Amino acid sequence: MERMTFSMCLKRAGIEKSFLREYDEEENYTREGEVHCTSSAFLCNESLDKVLFVYHNIYDSYTWPGGHNDGERDFFKVAIRETEEETGIKNLTLYSAIPLHMGLLPVKEHVKNGKKVPAHKHLNITFAFVVDEREKVKVKEDENSDVRWLPMDKLASFSSEPHMIPIFEECVRKLKEIQREKERVFRTIPFNLLPWYDKNKRDLPWRREKSAYRTWVSEIMLQQTRVEAGKAYYERFLRELPTVEDLAACPEEKLMKLWEGLGYYNRAKNLQKTAKIIVNEYGGVFPNDCETLKTLPGIGEYTAGAISSIAFEQKEPAVDGNVVRVLSRITENYDVDLKKKLFSSLKAIYPDRAGDFTQSLMELGAIVCLPNGVPLCEKCPMKEDCLGRRLEVENFLPSLPPKRERRVETLFVYHIETPEGLVLRKRTKGVLKGMWELPNFEEEKELPFEGKRELGRKEFTHVFTHVEWKMTCIYVKAEKTTMETHSWQEIEEALSIPSAFKKMIRKGEKM
Ligand code: SF4
Repeated sequence: MERMTFSMCLKRAGIEKSFLREYDEEENYTREGEVHCTSSAFLCNESLDKVLFVYHNIYDSYTWPGGHNDGERDFFKVAIRETEEETGIKNLTLYSAIPLHMGLLPVKEHVKNGKKVPAHKHLNITFAFVVDEREKVKVKEDENSDVRWLPMDKLASFSSEPHMIPIFEECVRKLKEIQREKERVFRTIPFNLLPWYDKNKRDLPWRREKSAYRTWVSEIMLQQTRVEAGKAYYERFLRELPTVEDLAACPEEKLMKLWEGLGYYNRAKNLQKTAKIIVNEYGGVFPNDCETLKTLPGIGEYTAGAISSIAFEQKEPAVDGNVVRVLSRITENYDVDLKKKLFSSLKAIYPDRAGDFTQSLMELGAIVCLPNGVPLCEKCPMKEDCLGRRLEVENFLPSLPPKRERRVETLFVYHIETPEGLVLRKRTKGVLKGMWELPNFEEEKELPFEGKRELGRKEFTHVFTHVEWKMTCIYVKAEKTTMETHSWQEIEEALSIPSAFKKMIRKGEKM
């Protein structure tokens, strides 16, 4: 999230700067003057009916966790830091960038760490966050004596500070207003998207004829390939294997060749496993219910939703990264686990044109609500309602979980060309198992060939989801070898070589 400075907070809260005449850009960030900037967190449970408050010894009352900015200009950062200090909670999700409260709060004279602190005012900003109620909490012993979930509609009975009661009530009112607006905006999505989709949908080969087989093949292909690049693969695949029976009967080597360049070869293998099940157990007819589809190899929640809604017009959502991005922006949702939760909430707003609605969400993500900070909001059918755009936080959504570190593996790869062709072997383990590869090893090796002439070495990197290969390719011309050699024609026409190795292959070239 961006830095939430004071002026940002005013803007998001829809407040004029003149509202807080006592604000001083420099002075308020220290504890010297009469007004101190503070940030607080209104920590709600997921159903938004309880709030996590701390019992603050200075105030003799339950209140929200919060504390002094002490020089920090980012009010979010302070609210998050103070939450952790006062409740022990580290996992909190921002509910909205709109502050629930901005205003001056009186602090009576008190003693802290044995020192008298004169009466002063807090210029406080409070944000709503969502916390899992099951999170363990702990009390900050020197300042507080309790941390407790309180019913949101009974906060007044837990506060002994009369001036705070209307503020808490105002926060609850504002929170519910934001919640209602999020729900309203969510419900408008099908009404905005379907007319837009009718006018703007792209002519894509898998949209030309409705069939479960076509939807399924295209969805599996597009899981790892951009639509533009996927079109040619899809058309070639359908030309060669126009029916589920053809796919079930296809020799594995041919299937791998058709899949070459798409990567993730297990997906092609699962495609065939499923085709065989459909032919043998379902008489070649796709089951039309989502639950049965999910039992088939390689068909998860997303693909099952896509097939049942697009091919069978059932109200089953298909939520992938694109759809999460679109919906997180429209509803200003910062939840890193949003994908899981969207299946049930989306189901509730599915219109009768289920297939078109699924595709309209995908289409919006593909051509308008683009990733990496460039959504084309001006062209978007949701531009009036989208909360991400209205609050100018669209580029901070979706929130992503912390990235897992990629493991780096070093390999020496041998490109051995003989008069018969190129030395290749089948991979027996790990990623790309079953594919053809150039011989490769963790260390340099002496290999069995004669008339060796090394032509040169080149460095390559290939990045998979969780592993990165740093490869040195050693180019060799040899007269003879006992290793398995394949002709260039066979390599071009029949063998599937994953792109990690394919990019190293140089036919008859001098290095
Ligand atoms: S208005 Fe912008 S951010 Fe919102 S859905 Fe449309 S393109 Fe995405």
